[in-house]
Amino acid sequence: MPTQDTHFDLCIIGAGPAGYSAAIRALDYNIKICLIERRSIGGAGLYWGALVSKSLWELSDDYAKAKRTDRGYLAHNLKVSFASVLQTALNAAREKEDQMFKTLDHFKDKHKDQGTITFIKGDATFLDSQTVKVTSNSSEFLIKAKEYVVATGSKPRSFEHITTDQSKILDTDGILNLKKFPKKLLIVGAGIIGCEYATIFSNFGQTEIHLLDHADGILPFEDPDIARHISNNLVNNGVKIHHRARLISTEQDEHFILATIQYGDGHIQVIQTEKILISVGRVPNTSNLGLENTGVQLNEHGYIITDPDYKADTCIHAAGDVIAGTPALVNVAEMEARFVIRKLWSQQPKPLKIHNMPTIMFFKPEVAAVGMNERQARQKGIPYRLVFYSNSLLPRSIAMRATSGFIKILISDDASERIIGMRAVGPQASSLIMNIAYLMVTGHSVDDYLNTIHPHPCMPESILEALRVLKGTSLCKPEVFPNQCYTKRWTPESTEDDWHLRCNVI
Ligand SMILES: Cc1cc2nc3c(=O)[nH]c(=O)nc-3n(C[C@H](O)[C@H](O)[C@H](O)COP(=O)(O)OP(=O)(O)OC[C@H]3O[C@@H](n4cnc5c(N)ncnc54)[C@H](O)[C@@H]3O)c2cc1C
Repeated sequence: MPTQDTHFDLCIIGAGPAGYSAAIRALDYNIKICLIERRSIGGAGLYWGALVSKSLWELSDDYAKAKRTDRGYLAHNLKVSFASVLQTALNAAREKEDQMFKTLDHFKDKHKDQGTITFIKGDATFLDSQTVKVTSNSSEFLIKAKEYVVATGSKPRSFEHITTDQSKILDTDGILNLKKFPKKLLIVGAGIIGCEYATIFSNFGQTEIHLLDHADGILPFEDPDIARHISNNLVNNGVKIHHRARLISTEQDEHFILATIQYGDGHIQVIQTEKILISVGRVPNTSNLGLENTGVQLNEHGYIITDPDYKADTCIHAAGDVIAGTPALVNVAEMEARFVIRKLWSQQPKPLKIHNMPTIMFFKPEVAAVGMNERQARQKGIPYRLVFYSNSLLPRSIAMRATSGFIKILISDDASERIIGMRAVGPQASSLIMNIAYLMVTGHSVDDYLNTIHPHPCMPESILEALRVLKGTSLCKPEVFPNQCYTKRWTPESTEDDWHLRCNVI
């Protein structure tokens, strides 16, 4: 709590990825910054979100590999306890948290040509557009700043009539409360995070998992071949996926929960489970923030409405999960926050472009994306050529004994051969996708990529070979491997659709 100074150039509310990046970037402009956080630094980027879940995913992936019996080694007495695995993941988050605190600590005092950050642990509420009240350990004080950034992020969405107690019925925050692997886990919501936790728990093989999907198939925004691949892998990993299914009620006794599921055709099934994980999206943290005392407007879902420069009121900007209209991701939160600071304190802010932003999903295997997929190109009526290349043809994947996966690259169906999107499914997909993301952002051509020499064997050789397939110069010929490497063309006039046919062969 500041005893002397309560006037700042910049006050940031929330120290998740958006708020923390805003604070650190603002240092570069030699100003006085105050960063207020009520819970834990790093927000959903660390403990109850991205970093811990990624650590759990990596550990589960290692464990699943260690369990395999087809690799020339056999692990004897392989043992796993959720408590130790969770502790390892928490240590990972702590490592990052320590680095963040070290940075804040370093800049709490003035350094030459750099600003200062005062970190305050407390709950912030706007009294008016220029005053924030902070409640900290039952004391209250006021902060005044020239500019504010609201970076209060989001929290798990509650599910209709089912109350989470974070013991038997959990949301993603409650994962940290688990003491041991549940024998049975019902996951409600087959979106990215629901599928991610289904992957993690099924990789460890200690839990019977039921995944409830309210649609006909998981990941409805992705191309059917990708959704099918991930769905099949989850099923092969032991996950029972219930399509067109809704959780309508729960009944608990001392040991178990009886979960009543209703399916699209009206029939009902009761599943006995030990825990339920509710993963049905997130909602913005905008209540109890005093925004009604400012000029900040919220949309019908409670997200802050900003202009294209992230301004929400005369001297209030907002960034990250709390704002309407941009994806809820760590990298987006960070970029938005950095943009706001640059815009406020730099003479020449560069416009922020978040289209062509690569994304990654942590399933079995990982899935990375940039630009359009086939579904989006078709919805927009954009003619494209597509090249598909299976990891089963790639020397690095063959060497890894991990040939499940593929890449798909979409190219504009004109002389410019502009790359309009890529999907990568398989090990190292997140690194692979950056090759194409970089080409797309810098406007380089297919030929530029074909002129780069790749180390051998490496995963990006799949991109090289795929683009060679497109040019008719590949070493693996579509005539020999018709289901593993092929090209196709789609125009709005196309009548023949081999999409579903191809799904079946992957
Ligand atoms: C399980 C899970 C896995 C995820 N995995 C990934 C991933 O792999 N990759 C990825 O890019 N994204 C991932 N995300 C999303 C990512 O975590 C969020 O998009 C990101 O954390 C948003 O950052 P933020 O700063 O906007 O908000 P948050 O991280 O939510 O931080 C907001 C902070 O503000 C604080 N706060 C709120 N109100 C107040 C107040 N009144 N006063 C003071 N402080 C306040 C909160 O305590 C919080 O610490 C994941 C999320 C979850 C839940």
